[in-house]
Parts: sequence; structure tokens; C-alpha cells
Amino acid sequence: MASDDDLLPIRALNDLLFCERRCVLHHREKVWVENRYTLEGTAAHRKVHAEPTDEELGGAGRRSRNVWLRSDRLKLVGVADLVEFRNPPSLDDSRPLLNDAEQQPVPYPIEYKRGQRRRWDNDDVQVCAQALCLEEMLGVGVPSGGVFHFKSRRRREIQFDAKLRALTEQAVARLHELLAGDTVPAPIKKPRCRGCSLYELCLPEVIVQRDRYANYLRQLYKTDTEPPST
Ligand code: SF4
Repeated sequence: MASDDDLLPIRALNDLLFCERRCVLHHREKVWVENRYTLEGTAAHRKVHAEPTDEELGGAGRRSRNVWLRSDRLKLVGVADLVEFRNPPSLDDSRPLLNDAEQQPVPYPIEYKRGQRRRWDNDDVQVCAQALCLEEMLGVGVPSGGVFHFKSRRRREIQFDAKLRALTEQAVARLHELLAGDTVPAPIKKPRCRGCSLYELCLPEVIVQRDRYANYLRQLYKTDTEPPST
């Protein structure tokens, strides 16, 4: 069994696939700043505690909110916003039950996100990691889950196929490697940096164009007593 100190938060996988630098700054260096998007995300998660509306729901079976998850194999810990425990197909279509495993409810984890309905690898990996934890904890297969997008009020289903499971396992290995290290990855400036709450601290333009800014500073503070550059 993994020591509690070795466990990493499942939600860090979302940061990792968004930007490795952001992931290390947030989860190892404890650098964090809120912006409009992070606050909207927090507000969306608060609503998970409230009574769900019909459009949020769907499927059948018991629903549990804020379900603690843990995987000793992957050394992950976290909370699923919502887990539906759906009736197994064999109960719905009146087929004869073959064994106990067939009678177990099938967990279906759902993560809540603030934006429009849209597929992102980082969201899919986060929910897949929740599914891997549920499989280890409950000993049942978790074939699918979903993301509920608050802005568009729509649910998007995710199939946990072999490709997504492999991507998730790779991301978990990379997360442990990065957070156990002592370096902070350099920024890679992308359009998404503009929405990153760490933008003002990260300064991707300055670091990416380090030589240009060093030259600028040298020019700025050059005095008349310095010999002219040749
Ligand atoms: S500003 Fe860009 S490079 Fe810097 S942490 Fe955010 S996403 Fe990463």
C-alpha cells in the first residue's frame, strides 16, 4: 500500500496536460493565482453540492457526490464530483445473471467543468484517472464516464478505451517524475497562456525571448563611460 505522502492529486493531471510548467508551479512550488476562469471553475464545483437539475442527470441508478478516490497502484488521490452507479445491462434487459460481478452496479464518474461543451485531452485524462481509481477500489470495470459543461449545460460522454487509458498511465508517470524533480520546465508560449492564471508570474514572452530582453536591458542601462561596442 502506498504511503499517504506518495499520493498525488488527480486534478494535477489536468494541469499537467494543460502545461507542465503550470503543473510544477502550482503543485510543487505552491504558486497559485486566481483569475476569472479559475473562479468560475470553483463556483461551478460549488454548485455540484446543490440539488441537481434534471438536465444534469440522466441514466439510472444511485448517485453519490464528492466521492473520495484512491489508487495505490498509480499513487493518486482525489475526489470525483459525482459518481452514478448504473444498473448493469444484465438487470435492464432481463438476461439471466451469470455471476456476482454481473450484478454489481457500474460506476460512471462525472467531472464538472465551467466552459462550453468541448473535448479536451486534459479533462478526458482526469476523468479516466478517476475511473482507474474506481476500478481498483471496487474491483469492477468502468467503461465510460462524462464531463458536465456548466456554460452549455450539456454532458459529454467519454469512453475509456485502450488509447485513453494508455495516455492516462503515461501522464501519471510523467506527473510523478516532474513533481519529484527539482527543476521547473521552461515556458512554451501558446495561445492558451492568455487564459492561464499564472501568466503574470510566468512571463512566457520574457523568458522565451530571454536574449532579446537581455540586450534591451543592456542598452537601457549603458552609460557614457562604457566603451562603444564594436
Ligand atoms: S503562462 Fe503559459 S507557459 Fe506560463 S504557466 Fe501558464 S500556460 Fe504555462
